[in-house]
Order: sequence, then structure tokens, then C-alpha cells
Amino acid sequence: MNTSKLIDGKAAAARVLAQVKADVQALKQAGVEPALAVILVGQDPASQVYVRNKILRAEEAGIRSLEYRLSADTSQALLLNLIGELNEDASVNGILLQLPLPAHIEETRALQAIAPGKDVDGFHSENVGGLSQGRDVLTPCTPSGCMQLLQDACGDLSGKHAVVIGRSNIVGKPMAALLLKAHCSVTVVHSRSVDAKALCRQADIVVAAVGRPRLIDAGWLKPGAVVIDVGINRIDDDGRSRLVGDVDFDSALPQVSAITPVPGGVGPMTIAFLMKNTVTAAVQQAHAQRSHLEALCHSIY
Ligand code: NAP
Repeated sequence: MNTSKLIDGKAAAARVLAQVKADVQALKQAGVEPALAVILVGQDPASQVYVRNKILRAEEAGIRSLEYRLSADTSQALLLNLIGELNEDASVNGILLQLPLPAHIEETRALQAIAPGKDVDGFHSENVGGLSQGRDVLTPCTPSGCMQLLQDACGDLSGKHAVVIGRSNIVGKPMAALLLKAHCSVTVVHSRSVDAKALCRQADIVVAAVGRPRLIDAGWLKPGAVVIDVGINRIDDDGRSRLVGDVDFDSALPQVSAITPVPGGVGPMTIAFLMKNTVTAAVQQAHAQRSHLEALCHSIY
């Protein structure tokens, strides 16, 4: 395999986390201790693994973590009450509500209850709107991680034609907004697109967030394209379960100039950017508090 084409997400995530750790140490010396609250409702096995990994990475980075494991029959009112308390708690900088939620809880209502400044997943409509306006707001972790990988691989993205396959609120839409902010020409394709393959073949950059195992093969790709594979799909391979992306890696590799593997590509970047967002939130809150105190002093003297 030509490993020179591989975009190493594990190494990139380690660099982000090392910077986060250094920033956390500096903040602690300045009297700010970043803290992340993680809420899990129910016992979804995949969510339990994700939450455990998030808490572990936070501890490694020196971020204080608070874990709230609620039973699957927790009422919406109780969840909203907890979020309200965490919003009010000045020692908590970031709040992460692990998705999916049990069916009786309205996801949008719960996500909207999180204070935008503590919304480290970037799902609150104020952050979503801010991103689409090109403002610096807390931005969803997976697309932010993809942007870092693209900037590491390509440098300046300005003027490049990017095709995003998928239009979910978690990946596709924020990814398109970030690429636009980086001055790319952006095409978003989805299940209703006419000849998605032909549109994709025009792209300098392809970001695949479809959830269909190995859908995108060499026939979808322009020679020399850079490919970011967000997909994580579990398949049965001759009786053995394994993870594959939305891109057919073996078919795509000879055609591309760079590509992320699955696993070891985008996945590690998602958690790294959650930690980065927590530090960003802590810095912004400390700044807001300082400005508030300064304003108070001006009004006194
Ligand atoms: P999603 O909500 O199911 O969205 C999938 C999108 O793909 C939809 O917009 C859908 O179009 C589009 N689509 C489906 N079939 C298509 C086709 N044949 N051609 C073109 N577009 C098609 O999925 P998601 O949450 O965005 O996740 C996508 C993948 O990324 C999944 O494999 C997920 O596990 C993975 N993921 C990975 C990470 C990570 O950290 N690496 C994070 C999040 C998600 P419509 O809108 O028209 O239905």
C-alpha cells in the first residue's frame, strides 16, 4: 500500500490533544480549570463506549470531567432541569449531551436547552446560525476535525471545489459551511441528487458522510482528489465483523492524492476537537467574566 497518501488522523489528533493539554496547564496557572459535563441517558452500548472515551481523553488532557448517567426512563423535565443547573454552574464550561436520546425525549428541545456558550457539540441553533454567517462560534467536532485534516493535507483551501456527500445536521451541513468559510466552492449531494457520482467526479476535495459502506469507489473520484471519509460502518466480512468507511478504500487509493483510512482517520479527530471546544468555551467564559467585572468597576469608579 502507498502509505504516503494516507492522512493519519491518529497523529493529527495527538497533535491537537497535546496543544489542548498545554493550554489547559496554562489556564490552570491563570486560575481557570476547564470542566466538561457529559450526560448519557439510557444504556445504548455504542454511546457508553463513546462517553467512556470522551471522559478518558478529558482526563488525559487535564480537563475536569463530570459524568451524569441517567436511566433510560428519565423524564424530559428532569433532563432539562439538570441542563439548567449545569448552565448556571460557573465551574462547568462545556455540556455534552450524548445522542441518540430515548424516544420520549425531544432531541431539539434538549439541545436547545444547553447554553450556547457551553454547547461544545455546536448543535444549538445560535451556534449553527453563527457558523452559517461565518462567525467564530463553537462548531461541531467531526467537521472541525475534517477541516484540520484537510488544511494539514492541502494547506490553503481557497478556490478548491469541494463536494460533501450527505446533508445531516451533525456532519454534512456544518462541513459545507466550514468549507465555504475557507473559501471553497461547495457542492452538497444527497440521496435525491441527480447523478451524485458525476457531481463528485468534479471535486478537488470529497468529504463522504453518507453511512453507506464503501459506496464511493474510484469511479466517483477525479484523479488527484483529496478524500475525507467520515463514514463508520460495521460490516460482516467472511464471518468477521469490521469497520469500513463510506469510501471503497482499495478502489480509491490509486486514484487519489490523499485519503483518510477507516478506522484511524476522522474518528480520533472528533474527540480531540471536543476537548479543543471545551478549552475554547472555558477561555470565552473567563473572558466574559473578566469583561463583566471590568464593566462593574467602571460603573463604580
Ligand atoms: P445521516 O444522518 O444518516 O446522513 C446521511 C446523509 O447521506 C443524508 O444526507 C442522505 O441524504 C445522504 N445519502 C444517503 N444515501 C446516499 C446516496 N446513495 N447518495 C448520496 N447521498 C446519500 O448520517 P450522518 O450522521 O451524517 O453520518 C454519516 C456517516 O458518518 C455514518 O457512517 C456515521 O457513522 C459517520 N459518522 C462518523 C463520525 C466520526 O466521528 N468519524 C461522526 C459522525 C458520523 P438525505 O438527506 O437525502 O437522506
